[in-house]
Amino acid sequence: MGGKDLQIDRVSKRYGDVHALREMTFDVGEGGIFGFVGGNGAGKTTTMRIILGVLAADSGEVRWRGEPIGLETRRDIGYMPEERGLYPKMGVRDQLMYLARLHGIRKRAAGAAADEWLERFGLTERRRDELDDLSLGNQQKVQLAAALIHDPEVLVLDEPFSGLDPMAVDVMSEVLRKKAAAGVPVIFSSHQLDLVERLCDRVGIVRAGSMVACGPVGELRDGSRRRFEIEIAG
Ligand code: ATP
Repeated sequence: MGGKDLQIDRVSKRYGDVHALREMTFDVGEGGIFGFVGGNGAGKTTTMRIILGVLAADSGEVRWRGEPIGLETRRDIGYMPEERGLYPKMGVRDQLMYLARLHGIRKRAAGAAADEWLERFGLTERRRDELDDLSLGNQQKVQLAAALIHDPEVLVLDEPFSGLDPMAVDVMSEVLRKKAAAGVPVIFSSHQLDLVERLCDRVGIVRAGSMVACGPVGELRDGSRRRFEIEIAG
């Protein structure tokens, strides 16, 4: 396991009177998979949006390899937002290609990457369909492909497994493992304890905007598991 590539250091954020984050602090090392666990409204999405830079923190800092995270690194984050956010009336393959092109990938390579992801998720037959015409589970797979298509240096995924069928969960788990093994830090939020246990090296439990526990996933298997269950139940 490498150093502390991505550091979230005492990040606070308020929405009016709501303290969404209170000195949120954790780090994700190179090659690590970090599971972000907490009940509804705990602050997971807010943290991810601040890492991505679409939301500004009131105080605190996000650092990438020791430096305040800059635009370049943020462009290299593969992000899957909770609210999703693709174009419902656009063809599935066109959409993936468009996103790849936005990341500066040349047309031929963009097409190859789109085809590869569609194949992996068993969606080759649906490539010309509008996103809207796909089941929610399949839309989710396209959203994941969109987060991965530019071969990101960091992965930040908000509830990536919710609504996926078992085959897609396996594909996705394998992808995250491979990414982590290649040195890409991965953060994902989840309410699915079994997945968190299976996939993550480290887990953080967040409650009311703060990290209340953070450590190796092995700790889940002893006394702390009950605590995780309580947090996930929210
Ligand atoms: P969930 O699992 O339900 O997605 P979460 O852990 O991702 O929850 P956040 O969405 O980050 O939590 O929300 C943290 C807190 O900030 C909650 O109390 C939420 O109601 C509040 N909040 C989030 N976005 C806004 C907003 N735009 N305006 C006001 N309050 C907000």
